[in-house]
Amino acid sequence: MELILPDEAATIALGRRLAAALPDGLVAFLHGDLGAGKTTFARAFLQALGVGERVKSPTYSLVEGYELGERQAFHLDLYRIADPGELEWLGLDSLAEPGAIVLVEWPERGAGALPPVDLELSFRHDGTGRAVAFLPRTAVGRRIVDALL
Ligand code: ADP
Ligand code: MG
Repeated sequence: MELILPDEAATIALGRRLAAALPDGLVAFLHGDLGAGKTTFARAFLQALGVGERVKSPTYSLVEGYELGERQAFHLDLYRIADPGELEWLGLDSLAEPGAIVLVEWPERGAGALPPVDLELSFRHDGTGRAVAFLPRTAVGRRIVDALL
């Protein structure tokens, strides 16, 4: 199932809608080339969850964590990772805790070091806009896709 995102506002709106449909915990992988809209989506999602203007890009830090009351959210960008073994020192164990909200850009570069995925989103360029395909991997992911579409 694919959605067309004609402009940046549509990517932001999708991030907000996902936040509104969020279950207790979620692991989502964000696929797509550079510029496909992954960070735009992740930032809108995290802001809607209450992170506000604090959202930073994890381009250099690899991972940013946020406390949201009882919940923890993590935003990863593994573009700079050459080998998943490089992730060991990051202490990613808390990503696998129940209730954690995890968004991962370039997840294929962290294969084996990431918790099981609930929902995969694949962003791509589509003319001047973008398109995004959804691939649920668990019941949690399926419920979200049902709520979004
Ligand atoms: P990525 O994290 O996938 O590399 P970004 O989220 O940083 O990509 O987005 C790159 C650019 O694409 C940004 O300038 C952003 O405003 C723009 N953008 C995001 N979504 C759309 C869209 N649906 N249509 C057009 N431009 C978009
Ligand atoms: Mg990005």
